[in-house]
Amino acid sequence: MSDSIALKAYGKLNLLLDIVGKRHDGYHTLKSVFQSVSVYDMLTVTLTDDDKITIDCDDESVPCDERNLVYKACTAFFEATGKDFHGVNILLEKNIPSMAGMAGGSADCAATLVALNMLTEAELTEAQLCDIGEKLGADVPFCIVGGTVLCEGIGEILTPLPDLEECYFAVCKPEISISTPECYKKFDNMIITEKAKADDMIAALVVGDVDNIAKYLYNALEYAADCSEIREIKEKMLENDALGALMTGSGSAVFGIFDNKRDAKKCVKELEDDYIFCKTLKPVPVGVEIIEHTL
Ligand code: ATP
Repeated sequence: MSDSIALKAYGKLNLLLDIVGKRHDGYHTLKSVFQSVSVYDMLTVTLTDDDKITIDCDDESVPCDERNLVYKACTAFFEATGKDFHGVNILLEKNIPSMAGMAGGSADCAATLVALNMLTEAELTEAQLCDIGEKLGADVPFCIVGGTVLCEGIGEILTPLPDLEECYFAVCKPEISISTPECYKKFDNMIITEKAKADDMIAALVVGDVDNIAKYLYNALEYAADCSEIREIKEKMLENDALGALMTGSGSAVFGIFDNKRDAKKCVKELEDDYIFCKTLKPVPVGVEIIEHTL
């Protein structure tokens, strides 16, 4: 049997997303609190001997060629490490909704890097894996580290925060998708008077105060997205006892935050018939989890 690893690649929500500047190369710099959540894609990464990178995915809308971030992860990994390449197959079972702002592609990319590091015995450190990941996508370093993390720069400066516990999310993705570049472009042309309170959010996370976490939820891109579907979901979540509600990343998924599972589940039950994705999720303390390593 071939050497193979099965892993879970967890999605994320942004509890806070503030845009603090723009670099000369056009990238926006952020101050953002990322949280890994319990929805995950399943990957099985296998070393083969056909000299190819092959991807088998159960979701027809996901490209299985060099456009897929797991393909890019393979190329970048072998280039960076100089390890001999003989072929890799990746079986990808998608559960994280696409175009949701939940880092589906980035999580898969992170899991592929972690798997290849083990399979090839390259023994790269987490920081070295993050360096490779950073070039593939701004969310990839976070997805490698996972848990509750303050991300700065374009996403490459990571400060881990205490694990979030006793907290539940209702997460809904409407049919509409929001283009990330367009969202940033709109942001550049507007003035947002509402300011992020990152220090207050961090203080709330340090003591695990869900009421205050809900109070300081903030996403600058939500103002730029200016989308009625997003507003509607938020209203419904608040009507269904969410302590707060927010769009994640550049959308279009929205989450409500709760301090107990019963209220979160009740909210999901009320909303699930109207949306393509609607689930109760909880925080998880990792971005990637190894399930099985077969030699
Ligand atoms: P983010 O929160 O990082 O902005 P997102 O939810 O906006 O993520 P993804 O679901 O990660 O977006 O993917 C968006 C696009 O990336 C899709 O159009 C898809 O074609 C492409 N893509 C590349 N690799 C993958 C992958 N492994 N899984 C899903 N989509 C992928």
